[in-house]
Amino acid sequence: MTFVRRRFARDNYLYLLAEGEDAVLVDPADPAVALDAVRTAGVRPRWILHTHGHVDHSGGSARLRQELGAQVIGHGDDAAWFAPDRDLSGTTVLDLGRLRIRVHPAPGHTPGSVLLEWQGRLLTGDTLFWSGCGNCRHGGDPSLLATTFRTVLPALDPRLEVHPGHDYAEANLPFVLDREPANQAAAGRLSAVRAARAAGVEPEATELGEEVLVNPFLRAGGDGPFVALRGLRDDW
Ligand SMILES: [Zn+2]
Repeated sequence: MTFVRRRFARDNYLYLLAEGEDAVLVDPADPAVALDAVRTAGVRPRWILHTHGHVDHSGGSARLRQELGAQVIGHGDDAAWFAPDRDLSGTTVLDLGRLRIRVHPAPGHTPGSVLLEWQGRLLTGDTLFWSGCGNCRHGGDPSLLATTFRTVLPALDPRLEVHPGHDYAEANLPFVLDREPANQAAAGRLSAVRAARAAGVEPEATELGEEVLVNPFLRAGGDGPFVALRGLRDDW
């Protein structure tokens, strides 16, 4: 079993999931970084999977599709940004060879955003970030995102590791601590991510249950307060 998270551009993450010969790239918008991860792991992905359609996640797909002969899979509701070979609409379990991935529809950041659950990990795209959530400025809807945070995320196993589409922890935590100065979990997390940056290593993934402590969007207490909090974060 192989699980790789690789940074590209400033703060984007792409992922490589493999079980034996069966491999899938998730949001590989930088083909060079994706192909380096593929070579290092010694696999040849037959699938490219998208958490959502935004170009900083899906922009590498056309080239990788051609280069690897891979099938592009994503939610049809994000077809404004990319054209999947296979539409995830209505899919709750995705079987790709030996890989079995649970798909949780999570509209809000975009209409077709999904969470991908595999082997104790949750790939959250731009829906849930470490210590924050995605904005809704590019085709999103804050009230839909609020509903996703109120209904979809709390139903998941709190022990799942959170693997987002961007590393925004260091940007999000000062906002959290500005609102919640006594939040020791958030203060500890900020120290940890700053120490990781100083050491030149990636931050440790949080678990979903730990995110609840540091992430006010996971305990907004209703759709109205969530939307208001999202607005505050937009203007912060
Ligand atoms: Zn996005």
